Amino acid sequence: MKVFVTGGAGFIGSTYVRSLLAGAYPGYEDAEVTVLDKLTYAGNRANLPAHHPRLTFVRGDVCDLGLLRDLLPGHDAVVHFAAESHVDRSLTDASAFVTTNVGGTQVLLDAAVSTGVPRFVHISTDEVYGSIEHGSWDENCPLLPNSPYAASKAASDLIARSYWRTHGLDLSVTRCSNNYGPHQHVEKLIPRFVTNLLNGEPVPLYGTGGNVREWLHVDDHCRAVQLVLTRGRAGETYNVGGGDERTNRQLTDLLLDLLGADPALVRYVTDRKAHDVRYALSDRKLREELGYAPQVDFAHGLAETVAWYRDNPGWWKPVRDAAQGGERR
Ligand code: NAD
Repeated sequence: MKVFVTGGAGFIGSTYVRSLLAGAYPGYEDAEVTVLDKLTYAGNRANLPAHHPRLTFVRGDVCDLGLLRDLLPGHDAVVHFAAESHVDRSLTDASAFVTTNVGGTQVLLDAAVSTGVPRFVHISTDEVYGSIEHGSWDENCPLLPNSPYAASKAASDLIARSYWRTHGLDLSVTRCSNNYGPHQHVEKLIPRFVTNLLNGEPVPLYGTGGNVREWLHVDDHCRAVQLVLTRGRAGETYNVGGGDERTNRQLTDLLLDLLGADPALVRYVTDRKAHDVRYALSDRKLREELGYAPQVDFAHGLAETVAWYRDNPGWWKPVRDAAQGGERR
């Protein structure tokens, strides 16, 4: 079994690859893994082992058709995580989001079809559905993305589906809620708040802090991806939810508690443009068809995540310094 993982040096992709290499997924204990990652500001080679007998790491771009045509032959599956992933960045400049998330996905699909890769899983997000005040989305709900990030992901989902319908590619799409866990870039809410609080610095909370997000541990997301890879049906989309719903204020209070930090460090800041009020997924299809059930309790997973950042300043301090250098430029 040979698995081609794009974006495998990022937060979720690297968690998936480390699990594969650790033999965490039945039937894939001997899988060989090729990671293709551009190592943008969000990618970190240190998220993966420097050397592993079953890992090949290639620095490259999913928009590079020639490279993909060289690399893909012989692989049994593509798991496509690579993307520009930060909503806030898409509000100031959406160009890389369209280039990588839309164009890159199309190029990767073309390469998969032309080289005869038998299976493809496209990783997407609940944000493609927009915002929902009550109830939850199932996979048949309309796509109403509100940010350029979400719109680029929605576009890539539709292009992916069209390659199943047009070319008969054996392809499934996953749409997951907000992930948390170790190795997440410090620009994202939980790592940003944790590392600010560890430094005794204020944390910026958008608007009133009332926005609701459904948090799922990254290990649960990766287990779901593997279930879909091995047992998902072609042409189908699977929501990956089952996480814990919290307002951003409630989440902030938990982080303050876990770190013993002063609540006065919370600063309310001008809300994000077009900030989605609430996301909520129905994951019934994944549970009923594929037997999915999340395993990581939120309180436990969050405490472990905070502990990981506390114990690994050598991982996040350079990332944070680079990000702050970028903000100053
Ligand atoms: P991330 O930003 O941590 O990682 C993205 C990775 O993709 C990085 O390693 C980056 O270097 C790489 N990359 C970017 N552009 C590339 C290109 N042109 N060619 C090759 N590699 C490139 O993102 P993440 O949080 O790990 O998200 C992974 C996927 O999961 C994305 O598709 C995202 O939309 C989706 N997703 C994320 C969440 C979440 O909460 N983080 C939730 C649902 C879905």
